Amino acid sequence: MERSLPSRILLKNAFGVILPDLRIGRDLSVYVVEGSIRGIGSPNTFPECAEIDVSGKLIAPGFINCHTHIEDAAFPELLFSTPPGIDVLYAPGGRRHRLLRELDAEQYRSAVSRAAAQMLASGTVMAADFCTGGADAIVALRSALSSSPIEWLHFTGHSTYPVQSAEALSTNSGDLDPSVMEDIAAALDVADGFAPVHVNHTTDAGLRAILRLVRGTAGKRLATHSAASIEYDELSLRHTGRGEIERATGILEPDFLVHLTYADVADLTRVRDAGIGAVMCPRAMACLGRTSPPFLVAVDLGLMVGLGTDNAMTSTPSMLDEMGFCARVQSASAEARRRSIHASYDACTIGAARVLGVADRLGSIEPGKDATFAVFDMHGDGLQSSTDVIASLVLRASRADVAGVMIRGQIAYGALGLACAA
Ligand SMILES: [Zn+2]
Repeated sequence: MERSLPSRILLKNAFGVILPDLRIGRDLSVYVVEGSIRGIGSPNTFPECAEIDVSGKLIAPGFINCHTHIEDAAFPELLFSTPPGIDVLYAPGGRRHRLLRELDAEQYRSAVSRAAAQMLASGTVMAADFCTGGADAIVALRSALSSSPIEWLHFTGHSTYPVQSAEALSTNSGDLDPSVMEDIAAALDVADGFAPVHVNHTTDAGLRAILRLVRGTAGKRLATHSAASIEYDELSLRHTGRGEIERATGILEPDFLVHLTYADVADLTRVRDAGIGAVMCPRAMACLGRTSPPFLVAVDLGLMVGLGTDNAMTSTPSMLDEMGFCARVQSASAEARRRSIHASYDACTIGAARVLGVADRLGSIEPGKDATFAVFDMHGDGLQSSTDVIASLVLRASRADVAGVMIRGQIAYGALGLACAA
């Protein structure tokens, strides 16, 4: 990231600033000191300092992508080009895993860094990624993303399968082998958290061991997929007498669960009451031929809800694309239409920040938070003649409308030049 801006900057005369609770402040300026928002108001209320002219532009919170598998950017459209009956997604035999092992370092770096550049150019400032398992995979991914100014949370998974024997799983008995625990511990030395693909890979005792290791010993984050298919839930019930979500919330106690596509109201209530975030990926589910997640139901029940773009081989890693799709598929009625627009936007900003535990500094534009913004050109082809700024962003905005991205007071992308240096 270019670190050329002075420590005090005024983003002056914005067409609008998206304030908390989706209020749009017109003709405001944002005063930035040392990478944080110091004030929002009329320009003459702030001390003289370097200025960036943002007239005609909208200052919005940078987007937060709660779930990616960014490595899959190396295999665009793989899911669509694979014949029926051949597994693509799941370790160890799925096509993506075999192809990942065959990539050389430069192919891998190029695909991953290009995807990260697309994310930044569409206004994303933070992302939580589930990587293939093991310390080496996390080291390779961190290296490939080393020039990306996006803030990444890297979750690792198991590096070898099966994690436990078929007999142990079917009888729900037996703890994890010491070698599995060593594998997780080694990966956690370089990862931000651990994310088993789903709870069915492990017995209840194994889940408890993971919880103790990840939280207690390593003090790191924990997440997993849950209720992405009816079959997984049935498998969990068959092996343990309890469904996936019940085991995930009651035993693993993660920070957030990804998908919840087949969660009912009782499941969602359980997730909410456990203080666990919900991450939903409507485009990925559509690509897999599954139903759309119960997004508005979760929002109405008061869950923390964020959106994610999931596998980069199926869906662009753009939150603009994800929230536009989410709002459309949830608009089943005129009443739901407006709520779905606002809720989709929220799930890419402050809702996502709550899910990832960073709402004290990201997700909204308020004094004290990071000066981290996506800046949109409201007079370009995409967003001109807007009568409802949030609806225009959710339904119409594309990467071409992003004039720039600022992260902690520095230009991370685009042409937000200094109009005058104080
Ligand atoms: Zn996923």
